[in-house]
Amino acid sequence: MTIDYQQILDDIASGCQLTEDRGKVATYIPELAKVDRFKFGIHLVDAEKNNFGAGNSLEKFSIQSISKVLTLAKAISLVGEDLWKRVDVEPSGDPFNHLSLLEMENGIPRNPLINAGAIVVADILVSRLTNPKVDFLQFVRDLANDQTIEFDSTVAQSEKATGFRNYAAANLLKSYGNLKNDVETVLDFYFHQCSLQMTCEQLTKVFFMFMNRGLCQREQKQLTLRQVKRINSIMLTCGFYDEAGEFAFEVGLPGKSGVGGGIVAVLPGKYCVATWSPGLNAKGNSKLGMEALEKLTTATGQSIF
Ligand code: GLU
Repeated sequence: MTIDYQQILDDIASGCQLTEDRGKVATYIPELAKVDRFKFGIHLVDAEKNNFGAGNSLEKFSIQSISKVLTLAKAISLVGEDLWKRVDVEPSGDPFNHLSLLEMENGIPRNPLINAGAIVVADILVSRLTNPKVDFLQFVRDLANDQTIEFDSTVAQSEKATGFRNYAAANLLKSYGNLKNDVETVLDFYFHQCSLQMTCEQLTKVFFMFMNRGLCQREQKQLTLRQVKRINSIMLTCGFYDEAGEFAFEVGLPGKSGVGGGIVAVLPGKYCVATWSPGLNAKGNSKLGMEALEKLTTATGQSIF
């Protein structure tokens, strides 16, 4: 049976555009508070690289924590399994910015998608890349085959000015010896990776390799099958702060959200989908984005389960 993805996305977008209850835009990064909460976009690329989009799917937004999956992919391709000596793979069940001892046992963060874990991954890239920010940006651009992708330095500066908890996490990691570079340099990289701006369409291109057995849109091998398995399983169990269970329950796809209101998810072998709606629910995930993806997997009858 062929599925009419365009019709399904159009129906989802028109429903979402009318919804009044859209959640709250993140304000702890002042620059993000300025975003129009009435935006809604959704884009899907299938395994044959057919593209389907609806709403504001071609408008750029701050991908924030979604970038943690991309730094993880780059780091794992550089250091392989050694990465797991410095970061664990257990869900934390905590909000993204929680700083408890549970989240970091003897300086080993619970997983690479919480802030402490992503800061360790950023440290690995700062050590391994010649020009860390430039090289990482180039990696992302090459994945999308799109040289227009940029950091938003205003957002990076805005987060730097208010990023006290990330400074605390980085200092704690440093005290345990799990940060090799200096705190300022690592956080400068981290704030920039989070400030990447992309459209829903660009995000699906960048994440295509996670649904395509490690091959990017240009069919170049970026990750081994084992690495893709590892990253997809981490997205499923840790990709939605303390709502990963609810996302798996409602949507049934590995994915990652960010406080800019983006969500990207993959159905291996079938499609990659991204949504953007800046209003967040109480757990920090895009309210309409989650609802839209629940509708998508219900309407298509397709999920990893
Ligand atoms: N840059 C944000 C932070 O570190 C990312 C948060 C997120 O999207 O979860 O607080």
